[in-house]
Amino acid sequence: MDFDVARRRFLSGGAALGTLALAPGVTLFAFPAEAKPAHEATSGSVRWGLLVDITKCEPECNTCVKACKAENGWHGFDRPKTDVQWIRKVNVRDPKSGRKFSLPIMCQHCTAPTCVDVCPTGASFKRVDGVVLVDKHLCIGCRYCMMACPYKARSFVHEAIDDQKPHAPRGKGTVDACTLCVHRIDQGRIPACAEACLKDGHGAILFGDLNDPTSEIHKRVATIATTQIRADLGLDPGVRYHGI
Ligand code: SF4
Ligand code: SF4
Repeated sequence: MDFDVARRRFLSGGAALGTLALAPGVTLFAFPAEAKPAHEATSGSVRWGLLVDITKCEPECNTCVKACKAENGWHGFDRPKTDVQWIRKVNVRDPKSGRKFSLPIMCQHCTAPTCVDVCPTGASFKRVDGVVLVDKHLCIGCRYCMMACPYKARSFVHEAIDDQKPHAPRGKGTVDACTLCVHRIDQGRIPACAEACLKDGHGAILFGDLNDPTSEIHKRVATIATTQIRADLGLDPGVRYHGI
């Protein structure tokens, strides 16, 4: 059976197990294995992150963006240059080789986040497990963090929001960004982008604990070539890319 077909059938059947043995020595790690059990408290020994395999990411595919919008309730207001964008697809062409590829960019959940450094109110903060968030009650909308973020990961909310999701509070005059679907992580689930990409048959986004030597993301980062975008800036992003 084709690997992707097997994976889709397994997932559509409701994955109750963390792993699935496909053949002797070949084990498929299904997404529940990567998530924290819901009863466990947030821990500083954990470093949640994403590994994006751009060799599996198709230029025309927008599945992760659509899933993020649906999950977190953000949407555009027809202002392309200043629009809200928790995650966006970027098409790249290497001028030397002519090679083209596409990758999703979202908040990189940096170890040394400049957004947190510049925030005058403490609204921008990093959880002990590496997830970088904005406290809407403390944000005064100064937008320093938007200017400080080299990944253009944050957006300003210009309009009154009347259809926000309870798990993703947003408000006019404040800044927001990808939360790594922290509400799902805390329920033992994986982020909506990773889940949708997997269900769509691509499997280009892997979520997990970068610190856990037994996790699939840790093993892959340890054994294949991965890149942090603008690693030279020293922010140590929790989002890694393979195939750039
Ligand atoms: Fe902050 Fe930008 Fe890093 Fe996200 S990507 S943690 S907004 S500096
Ligand atoms: Fe902090 Fe909000 Fe200003 Fe960003 S816009 S720096 S989160 S107060």
